[in-house]
Amino acid sequence: MSLRNRINVPRTLAFRLTLWYAGIFLLSAAVAFSAFYYLITATIRGRTDQELLAEVRAFSSMMALQGIEAVKRQALLESHAAGEKQVFIQLVYPDGRLFSSSNMSYFHNIPVSVEAIGRMLEQQEPFFATVSSPDHRHEIRVVYALLGPGLIIHLGQSMDGLTRFIDAFKRIFIGTMAALFALAVILGWFMARRALAGVETLTRTAQRIAADGRLTERVPVGRGGDEIDRLAETFNRMLDRIQELVKGIKEMTDNIAHDLKSPLTRIRGQAEVALTSGGGADEYEAMAASAIEECDRLLEMINAMLFISRTEAGVAKPELGELNLAEVVRNACGLFQTLAEDKGVALTCDAPQQLAVAGDVRLIQRMLGNLLDNAIKYTPAGGSVEVALISGPGRLARIDFKDTGVGISAKDRPCIFERFYRGDPSRSLPGAGLGLSFARAVARAHGGDITAENRTPSGAVFRVVLPMAG
Ligand code: ADP
Repeated sequence: MSLRNRINVPRTLAFRLTLWYAGIFLLSAAVAFSAFYYLITATIRGRTDQELLAEVRAFSSMMALQGIEAVKRQALLESHAAGEKQVFIQLVYPDGRLFSSSNMSYFHNIPVSVEAIGRMLEQQEPFFATVSSPDHRHEIRVVYALLGPGLIIHLGQSMDGLTRFIDAFKRIFIGTMAALFALAVILGWFMARRALAGVETLTRTAQRIAADGRLTERVPVGRGGDEIDRLAETFNRMLDRIQELVKGIKEMTDNIAHDLKSPLTRIRGQAEVALTSGGGADEYEAMAASAIEECDRLLEMINAMLFISRTEAGVAKPELGELNLAEVVRNACGLFQTLAEDKGVALTCDAPQQLAVAGDVRLIQRMLGNLLDNAIKYTPAGGSVEVALISGPGRLARIDFKDTGVGISAKDRPCIFERFYRGDPSRSLPGAGLGLSFARAVARAHGGDITAENRTPSGAVFRVVLPMAG
């Protein structure tokens, strides 16, 4: 089933973005249309009022100059000329009674409003009103104005032009809005899909990886440097890291399997030889002793691995007690003296009387032992190993292990603290590649660290720092 089929479209971001685009587009268009509509209708109404007012003025001056009969005649003439469906002109008394009227057959249900006359007389200026009648689809704009003492003119003009305009406007409005909405949806969908195409590629890649575990897959990264590109970059970086971690775990498993296999094969071989050769008790004893030795080495290795994993994960915490590091360092050097002498390496130790740290004495002993063992192991006969303990700056105890041995190659340097890593020159020497990773796990579990550097002209220096007690 394709990704597209499984997607619930109304819940997609693209769909919601499209709706937003379309909604905002439509709203803006509606606001613009409404403003235009309001402006046009207000202008048309204003113009009608101006025309009515001009008529009122003309009749007023005629009244003043030629008298009421002339006005009556003119009123009839004008309403006839304009069309009896367009305008009506009535002359009324203040109580609403008619003095004269144009033909009102079209406007028969437009009554004279006594209330409007009252308001006009009160305000002393022409009074406008919009009247609608059940017989007409359009409204009628009327004005009441005082022509002379006791005589009022009631003028009305049909607004059918405006009504026609509004009808046409509505049709255009609905048509345009529908077209605009369709356009907004198409545009919005297109834009949203374009913007989210990167996310979809990312999702597909993640799905492919989830389905068949191909960690080599990468998402194509665009050159725009936008949010999606950055997301893709981060996703790819995360994949790099996962791939690295998986590779590391695989290598570690291979190493563990390999390192467990050799001693087990040896134990099995010895047992087989003892059985088939039919030797005596001595031979069985030797076989058992050698098996115990191999098992001890295996257990030690497994324990070291467990310790490293647990301390790195923060699960195991050392039991901290105050101890004199100076004494522990001196004792460790003392223990390795014979080994160094046997190999022809001069081992010297320089430590003060007292230097207290909070630590787990057994772990620190093993850490020192590993570093001493390495220093002697990687230094040829005739060389020297100097161990120096000082109290460094920042309340840190510092132990340097300086040797004149083979040193660390540039290739090995970034990896020597990794589990099971063994440098090229050490292949022929005993060891499982766990010594340094164990030592560093111990130092870190105590809040310290270990670093390694090369010395000139030859050799290496391993520096341990541990926080001092108190
Ligand atoms: P092992 O000594 O069993 O190989 P370690 O974890 O103790 O494993 O050391 C890892 C690697 O670091 C070694 O294989 C070696 O290449 C390098 N190394 C450690 N100590 C020294 C040293 N003093 N001088 C040179 N190289 C060293």
